[in-house]
Amino acid sequence: MLLQNNQINIPSFTLVRQNSMLEKELLECFLQVVNQGIFILNENVKVLEDKVSNFCQANYGIGVASGSDALDLSLIACGIGHGDEVITTPFTFFATAAAISRVGAKPVFVDIDPKTWNIDVNLIEEKITSKTKAIIPVHLFGCPVEMDAIMQIAKKNNLRVIEDAAQAIGAQYCGEKVGSFGDTGCFSFFPTKNLGAFGDGGMIVTKDSKIAEKIKLLRIHGAKNKYCHDVLGFNSRLDELQASILNLKFKYIELWTQRRRELAILYNNLFQEHIRTDRFSIKLPQEPDYAYHVYHQYTIQTKQRDELQNHLKSYGIASTVYYPIPLHLQKVYSSLGHHQGDFPVSEDACNEVLSLPMFPELTNEEVEIIVDAITSFFTR
Ligand SMILES: *Cc1c(COP(=O)(O)O)cnc(C)c1O
Repeated sequence: MLLQNNQINIPSFTLVRQNSMLEKELLECFLQVVNQGIFILNENVKVLEDKVSNFCQANYGIGVASGSDALDLSLIACGIGHGDEVITTPFTFFATAAAISRVGAKPVFVDIDPKTWNIDVNLIEEKITSKTKAIIPVHLFGCPVEMDAIMQIAKKNNLRVIEDAAQAIGAQYCGEKVGSFGDTGCFSFFPTKNLGAFGDGGMIVTKDSKIAEKIKLLRIHGAKNKYCHDVLGFNSRLDELQASILNLKFKYIELWTQRRRELAILYNNLFQEHIRTDRFSIKLPQEPDYAYHVYHQYTIQTKQRDELQNHLKSYGIASTVYYPIPLHLQKVYSSLGHHQGDFPVSEDACNEVLSLPMFPELTNEEVEIIVDAITSFFTR
């Protein structure tokens, strides 16, 4: 039996396998940038901006320093600031709401759909006030939000839409890529994301030439001509070295996404074979009819989450909780006056979700070992 092997050591995520596969090509990227001797906003960044914007069915791509900055700069370019309200989900990475607060606006949370863990589009309209200026849907774990509903609500109420697609490059809603629906789409190249750099990086895509121009200005201290500052901007660039690595990795993005989807199907099939998921009430990730899910995470939900995580750990299998605390209960947001129970679906998710190992280089055999270990937990 596979589980008796005490040599097992399966990480939640690792780049070591991918890096060793790409070692030669990666070293060429470094050498190319070293020899070129230009490190900020040159050819590599332009090439990546074109590739990512084309891939995402948008017209413009603007490389920035991180996914967090992509959100900040998008909000500013959309004219959102003090006194405004922006609707988003409390079940996301902190950066989504932090961007809203940093520009001086107020995050207004809407609970999530228990099936996808994405914002519940049926609960948005009741939160709209005269101050509401935008919605930030988050395509969590790589599963696209119902963008038709979001865009209809936005149109009816004259709201901006900024897509947080940090976890979802390549995901599709009804055959169209995420990031292409809203005023902007925000991507992160943090090393663990589906397209990851060797450090921080991000990109904004947009179909709107005016927004693209504003963001290009904002990322270089608001100076169209050097040392002439028209607006208050930032230092937020994607650098050439990261862009060169990302251009290399971009060649594999569709292959890697297909592999993630293959692994997700394998997990699903093995779970259905081995555990009566109805009897043990473990919820598997869903891919709605409208969705092309890119499985940034393969996340399950169970009331025995912490015991299961410890059980896996004892077998040498890592797993991660994204996210343990919903944003409305974070200390930094105590001034918003929220309480336990305000967003029950999000709170349950925080207590019950567990993300299993997921990265393109994970082997089928490893998935089998993981499912065996989970089966042994539920059939103890
Ligand atoms: C990673 C992430 C971000 C922030 O991206 P960084 O590049 O780490 O700044 C924003 N939103 C979500 C949902 C993320 O997962």
